[in-house]
Amino acid sequence: MSIDRIAAAIRDIPDFPKPGIIYKDITPLLKDPELFRETIRALAGRCTEKPDYIAGIEARGFIIGAPLALELGCGFVPVRKKGKLPYDTVEQSYSLEYGTASIEIHQDAVKPGDKVLIIDDVLATGGTAAAAVELLKKINAEIIGINFLLELSFLVGRDKLREMKVDSLITV
Ligand code: AMP
Repeated sequence: MSIDRIAAAIRDIPDFPKPGIIYKDITPLLKDPELFRETIRALAGRCTEKPDYIAGIEARGFIIGAPLALELGCGFVPVRKKGKLPYDTVEQSYSLEYGTASIEIHQDAVKPGDKVLIIDDVLATGGTAAAAVELLKKINAEIIGINFLLELSFLVGRDKLREMKVDSLITV
């Protein structure tokens, strides 16, 4: 298993979606079936405790989180942008560079005390993951960790996730 090969399959797209941002594009990794499988197995191998559920953050947290849930033998629950989930939801707002955004989860997504691992592809400033933590707390989940494929350490997103077990397969 080669973390270097996985890292090499994530390409930098400068100035997307706006000037100054270097977007980490995981599509080359996803289209290589062996590397994608290796990635999911590597993420699974880093899980020290089996969750009851993976909570994947829309949208790339779904792509990573769903196969990881199958690999770990647990369920998958989606954390979605506001207005997308059909049943009763709880909501959490968070700050963006300009304005705010909201994410939601079904109010019955997990039972109180269920162990949940939060998954997203990239940890940048940490605002989205911190909002997901608050959301899961609202439905009384036990958050056992927050795992990422890639962490942009210079944006110090971990600082927003204090008290949480944060793990990233690749850190740049
Ligand atoms: P943040 O809330 O700043 O940690 O941003 C996290 C969300 O935005 C995640 O869902 C990421 O997928 C996405 N994101 C932020 N920055 C990048 C980046 N440079 N490349 C790819 N995705 C990013």
